[in-house]
Amino acid sequence: MNDPADLSVTIVDGYVDEPAHFGVPPYISTYPRYTAGALVDAGVPESQVTYHTIDALREDRSRWRDVEEADLLIYVGGMTVPGKYVGGTPAEPDEVRELAWVADGTTLMGGPVRFGVGEENAGAQDTERDDLDYEFVAKGDVEAAAHDLVRNGLEGFGDRVRDNEEVDRWGAKGAFVVEQHPNHPDYLIAEMETSRGCAYRCSFCTEPLYGNPAFRTAESVVREVGQLYDRGVRHFRLGRQADILAFGGDGEAPNPDALRDLYGGIREVAPDLETLHLDNMNPVTIVEYPERSREGIRVIAEHDTPGDTAAFGLESADPVVQERNDLLVTAEECLEAVRVVNEVAGWRPGGDREAAPTFGDEAPRRLPKLLPGINLVHGLAGERPETYEHNFEFLQRVLEEGLMVRRVNVRQVMAFEGTEMAETGADIAKEHRKQFKPYKRRIREEIDNPMLKRVAPPGTVLPDVHLEYHRGGKTFGRQLGTYPLLVGIPGERELGSTLDVAVTDHGYRSVTGVPYPLDANEASLAELRAIPGIGKGRAGDLVVGRPYGSLAEVDVDPTVAERFLAVRVPGTAD
Ligand code: SF4
Repeated sequence: MNDPADLSVTIVDGYVDEPAHFGVPPYISTYPRYTAGALVDAGVPESQVTYHTIDALREDRSRWRDVEEADLLIYVGGMTVPGKYVGGTPAEPDEVRELAWVADGTTLMGGPVRFGVGEENAGAQDTERDDLDYEFVAKGDVEAAAHDLVRNGLEGFGDRVRDNEEVDRWGAKGAFVVEQHPNHPDYLIAEMETSRGCAYRCSFCTEPLYGNPAFRTAESVVREVGQLYDRGVRHFRLGRQADILAFGGDGEAPNPDALRDLYGGIREVAPDLETLHLDNMNPVTIVEYPERSREGIRVIAEHDTPGDTAAFGLESADPVVQERNDLLVTAEECLEAVRVVNEVAGWRPGGDREAAPTFGDEAPRRLPKLLPGINLVHGLAGERPETYEHNFEFLQRVLEEGLMVRRVNVRQVMAFEGTEMAETGADIAKEHRKQFKPYKRRIREEIDNPMLKRVAPPGTVLPDVHLEYHRGGKTFGRQLGTYPLLVGIPGERELGSTLDVAVTDHGYRSVTGVPYPLDANEASLAELRAIPGIGKGRAGDLVVGRPYGSLAEVDVDPTVAERFLAVRVPGTAD
């Protein structure tokens, strides 16, 4: 019998993307953290738990030694929604298989991968269960399986789900593992679970496979945040839940007091946190319980950090599709929920809260506190050519009413066993592929671009943009947070550093910007040219006119100067 105290365990994170749980870098999901905590709880010393992301293994082949030599290899991962990612590339099924082949010890696989895998990580795919050559596959919770397997001397375990007391312990005990993440500490955001499961049963969604919602207590989440904070994490997202508004309630109705305990408690244990965002708010909660929802949203907007997004699963604005797939809100109801979030939380730091939603010339140049995001899914049962029109019209109405949404997410369905969509499969999505592409482009051009101009007008300051890659002579980066904007900056700057950026122009889902404030004595020609109101010729004149002793000497419109420029006199300290 293996003594847990002697075991070495390697956890490999192939990343997860589920309807209500995200774990592609810069995010770290709950799976590796809870699994590490469960191992420690079962008696494995912290020092004998090694954690690698799949990207870290790709980058350095020598790390595979940890896979090979561990007494126990645990793979966690699985994509149940399709996506493209900047921060990391999820493990492909062949790579997951290779891990099992390389490992000399016992192998265990778990996480959403248990719901099935497609041939590759993409939308419009049928999926099926596959054990990918692992000895053990956790059909319940991988953290519970890891715990029980270790306790049973690596001989086996009964599939089960973990209970809330275990989450309390394992979440807090597993926080240490974040220190082994390649992005730790600065560019890492911890996905926090407040509940899982869902009270509803939308046809395509894997979340109901976790059953009815099981809420953690505010105290338990706060304790885990405290542990992660002590381990250096400064960015948090409350993303592992179907509906943040339902937190601490009966599963449907909001409980603003519980939200106050949660958010207030987090701010207390993590006073210098830099990001506190959320994901997933159910518009049906706002429609059914408008007053309590307003109160709950107010609490969130008082505590979160700007640029927060409440993703709404409208999924389809077509009544036929809604009916066929048990979708929860009509387009009209979703529009009302968009209004509510705009009115209560669409204010900007330093601005008038009562005037929300605020945009235009007078609004402070910061991102709004909290805005809705809209999720649309295609390929659902009953989809027809008119579906595309219904969806587009809905988005147009949002725009025309002077409301804001932070982003529109349009995707094609993945069909998983155990969901109703398994019957329909990916056939409709495949049939409609031709229509999907131009429709998506139309949304990008006619909705996303004008909306982005409203949400982040020129001069909007985005603090702490992390610089991630170079392309075409530009540097691209993002802030940490929920659905961060992709920001392009002229010139090739040092990657891995952070920069405050002022927005200068807008793409469909990305913006261009310049470092903020831009030193008129030092800025490159390309940077000066990027500023609205400074043309090519003027930028050249500004360079020729250097050095400047003060901003007043710089020959540009004072509003432009104030929004973008500063003057550092050469030879003086900052
Ligand atoms: S409301 Fe529907 S889409 Fe959202 S988590 Fe529940 S079942 Fe899934």
